[in-house]
Amino acid sequence: MPCILLDRRTVVSAIERYPLNMTFFSTPEKLEIGDIPFIASHEKPTRRDGLLYYRRVVEHFGLDARPGEEVTAVTRTPEGKFLARVGRRHETISYLADNIVFATGYYDWPNLLGVPGEDLPHVSHYFLEGHRHWHQDVVVVGAGNSAVDAALECWRAGARVTLVHIAEGFDRTVKPWVLPDITNRVKEGSIGAHWHSRIVAIHPDRVEVEQIDGGTRTAIPADQVLAMTGYYASTDLISSLGVPVDHATGVPAHDPATMMTPVPSCYIAGVMAAGRDANRLFIENTRQHGGVIVEDIRRRTGA
Ligand SMILES: Cc1cc2nc3c(=O)[nH]c(=O)nc-3n(C[C@H](O)[C@H](O)[C@H](O)COP(=O)(O)OP(=O)(O)OC[C@H]3O[C@@H](n4cnc5c(N)ncnc54)[C@H](O)[C@@H]3O)c2cc1C
Repeated sequence: MPCILLDRRTVVSAIERYPLNMTFFSTPEKLEIGDIPFIASHEKPTRRDGLLYYRRVVEHFGLDARPGEEVTAVTRTPEGKFLARVGRRHETISYLADNIVFATGYYDWPNLLGVPGEDLPHVSHYFLEGHRHWHQDVVVVGAGNSAVDAALECWRAGARVTLVHIAEGFDRTVKPWVLPDITNRVKEGSIGAHWHSRIVAIHPDRVEVEQIDGGTRTAIPADQVLAMTGYYASTDLISSLGVPVDHATGVPAHDPATMMTPVPSCYIAGVMAAGRDANRLFIENTRQHGGVIVEDIRRRTGA
């Protein structure tokens, strides 16, 4: 079935933007697609292993992936085809398609704190590596896997780290093999923790933190703020085509058996199907979406 893949960044660009020293929580076989074995020398493959594997899958099947092409709008023609407007370098081009699959993920849309100072240059929703924070005061917001990994790596690289989290304690989703490490660092006071607290303002050299019960405010020095507050799937493009999106969950309407939305021939795939609860879906439990969609297109069109 002829198919093109448009990506405004590159193939598997979410993995490209993972922390540089990250290892997957999944074992290699749970990340495999297209029946291509994922061979890695460790039980948990690294970011580099993942990039290599998925690049090779694209090359093996000769997939027509087109990096640097951003879909800016999609409309329907009177004949029922999809017309995608695409920005590519300095030009705008269009593609016409019988079927369209939105797999735009979540990693481009961080959950913002919504506080003054969030747009300052030392605030980031992405963590790359600890080394650059050596001897810095680093405030990490959140208590999930990304926050825990960032806090531990920054601390090991010589940063003074403080965690700020709205609830009490670490998220239940934190990898069990990492939990004792972070728990002990907090217990011994190597990494500071402000539980039941939220950031109310970010200044160039400090953050203001407020305790949720009682409202006591504290200033914490901060050369870097890592807001590890998760991400959500944007539904702007798909909504513009008339696909209803659940107000409470952010999940686009679709049939989980086929991944088709109520707009005929328009599908969703990947973590997009999770809406705002982006932790619910990941590679392991969405990698079958491609096959399901192709099967449905074949069934409907006899292709
Ligand atoms: C640090 C970290 C570790 C993880 N570890 C694991 C793990 O061990 N196991 C696991 O199963 N999952 C893991 N995940 C989750 C996994 O990365 C995601 O579930 C997966 O990447 C989602 O795939 P996707 O194709 O739905 O979206 P993405 O991988 O986010 O791909 C979406 C793509 O759409 C492109 N795009 C968006 N809008 C447009 C547009 N308008 N035009 C063109 N292109 C567009 C983006 O550039 C992006 O390349 C991890 C995530 C993180 C952040």
